[in-house]
Amino acid sequence: MSYMPDENERRQLGLDTGITRRDFVNGSLVSAGGALLGLSVPLVSRAAADTFTGYGGVGDYAKANGNTWPVVQAAHRLRDGQYDAAAFAHAKPAGDFDLIVVGGGIAGLSAAYYFAKAAGNGPRKLLLENHSILGGEARQNEFSVDGVRLLGPQGSNDFGIPAAGSGSTADAFFSEFGIPREYTWQKWDAQLKPLRFAHDNYSNMDGFQESQVDVGYFFGPEWGQAPGWQRNIWSNGLKDTPLTPAARRDLLRWRANNGPVGDAEDRYLDTLTYKDYLENVRGYDPAVTRFVEPIVGLLSGVSADAASARLGRQLVEPTDRPMAVSFPGGNAPFPRALLRGLVPDALPGTDFSSLMYAPLNFGALDRDGQATRIRLNATVLRVEHQHPGQGDGRVEVTYEQGGTLFKAKTRSVVMASGGWINKHILADMPEDLRTAYQQFSYAPALIVNVALRQWRFLYDLGVTACRWFDDADGFGYCCNLRQNMLSEGHDAALHPDRPAVLSFYMGLPIPGLPAAEQGAASRARFFATPYMEYEVRVRRQMAHLFGPHGFNPKRDIAAIVLNRWGHARLIEPPGFHYGVAGKPSPLERVRQGYGRVAIGHSELNGAQHWGSAVEYGRKAGERAAAMG
Ligand SMILES: Cc1cc2nc3c(=O)[nH]c(=O)nc-3n(C[C@H](O)[C@H](O)[C@H](O)COP(=O)(O)OP(=O)(O)OC[C@H]3O[C@@H](n4cnc5c(N)ncnc54)[C@H](O)[C@@H]3O)c2cc1C
Repeated sequence: MSYMPDENERRQLGLDTGITRRDFVNGSLVSAGGALLGLSVPLVSRAAADTFTGYGGVGDYAKANGNTWPVVQAAHRLRDGQYDAAAFAHAKPAGDFDLIVVGGGIAGLSAAYYFAKAAGNGPRKLLLENHSILGGEARQNEFSVDGVRLLGPQGSNDFGIPAAGSGSTADAFFSEFGIPREYTWQKWDAQLKPLRFAHDNYSNMDGFQESQVDVGYFFGPEWGQAPGWQRNIWSNGLKDTPLTPAARRDLLRWRANNGPVGDAEDRYLDTLTYKDYLENVRGYDPAVTRFVEPIVGLLSGVSADAASARLGRQLVEPTDRPMAVSFPGGNAPFPRALLRGLVPDALPGTDFSSLMYAPLNFGALDRDGQATRIRLNATVLRVEHQHPGQGDGRVEVTYEQGGTLFKAKTRSVVMASGGWINKHILADMPEDLRTAYQQFSYAPALIVNVALRQWRFLYDLGVTACRWFDDADGFGYCCNLRQNMLSEGHDAALHPDRPAVLSFYMGLPIPGLPAAEQGAASRARFFATPYMEYEVRVRRQMAHLFGPHGFNPKRDIAAIVLNRWGHARLIEPPGFHYGVAGKPSPLERVRQGYGRVAIGHSELNGAQHWGSAVEYGRKAGERAAAMG
């Protein structure tokens, strides 16, 4: 089906109105950066940027929804070797530091914070981030709908509440920054029919805590039946579903096969694909693979025939496990807490509510003379030891900001940006590190937040989360509304006639392709798809699912924000985690860094999460402090 709707469909989908399009295609501003640097690259038009990035919501994060066009373009110029080597030699001096951190996500901010704890606040630190705001994958979208302020996660979303005193990284972090461990949630009016919500955007997915959430399943012609909804299919053993008896039996076995495995089994699972494990080791009906495919695709980045069984097996959780929770803007408060720790007046306030909602004081980030300076919209292009091989030398860091090249010097560097970009930046890295990085590949994920004016169509269906099964033209596979965490001054009602954010989480796996090729092919497709096409697909999918239940896209959708993450997941094919045939895992080599460069991105854990970002950022910051 063509994605371009005709006039009639445009009207029906509400594409002729809406705030999502108001800023679009308004000129042909050429990229100042390209012009000043004398790059041999096509000039970038404003229209192209808007066509890609689309509407970004309101507030501080409005110009940084996922990977935005300018950031993607700069990264691709770097990858393709299009920066003029001669220009590097003439970069403007940008000061001398004790630490430069590349990347302002949780890991980069942790590196700077724990460096300061280890080395004191005397040493001068510079943090360079290529987006217009900090947070990396843990940023938030903000909306204002009919006077109601709404937040949603751009990517990084949930966390398990750490037990106080457990000594875990998360426990220490919560204590360090005074983050509360008990929360109040939006009230549900007793006059309304009872509904169960997730507190995050994963619990509703099969294999997680779906039994604690009211989930609607949409079965259509692809299951040999007229389109229709069923609620909470697991609660009666899948009895009313169109699945075959063998598929039902094996899905129930799959769901029950959870819980931790020992080290030996974990290593064994790392030797085969998840599909192989499901179909050949466990002997399940292929319907199980089909059912879980999009969830594996989201969380591992690739399809079940390419992801390691080690990772796939971890996705199935005990049904009675407490639900994970999320802040209104997902994990954005974690980097915000670190920022407050580093530059207190950059995030005014000291309370929990301002940690989530307060606007940043951008003027406080990069002031002369302060111990930590933070520079936004600054893309690091090159990191190189001044005198390679000499342990006491300095490192030169070249970056581009506003179309000008700068070069800063430093005693130590933390690379808290991902391997996909580090391998193009680290000009003098040793051969074995380069070889290790060549084994890293990544897959994209797409998170779409739809701000709704009302959601009575879901209430009438009796669900707060939905699951459907892909057909050739479908968009995504699930979406949900959260019951939001409350804080002082932010206690918007949860009611079917009030605004709320409906979030779609999806990966883009391509079954049948080898793991690394899947990542590259799906990323290419994903980056080539304009915002408008995704908007049409979201609206069409919602009209298809919910139109017969009172949903009207024109009336009900206030805004749609896309958050594209080109390198959301480090792909872990079999053998990646533990290594194969006596060769160590490439993760081990990258963790070591080299010379005066420490590497500390969350991916060094394998499956990235906020805690691993803190852990590896902290370790890299402490290693840099020890370099003296
Ligand atoms: C879609 C999605 C969902 C997730 N869901 C969860 C979840 O629910 N729970 C959870 O715990 N974790 C989740 N994660 C993972 C987790 O949050 C991340 O691992 C963590 O936030 C990553 O932090 P980081 O600092 O290591 O990397 P990043 O967040 O990637 O930060 C790196 C920063 O460096 C910047 N950068 C890159 N190159 C350059 C350059 N050349 N110059 C300057 N800056 C540069 C980037 O723009 C970015 O801001 C999710 C991740 C994604 C993508």
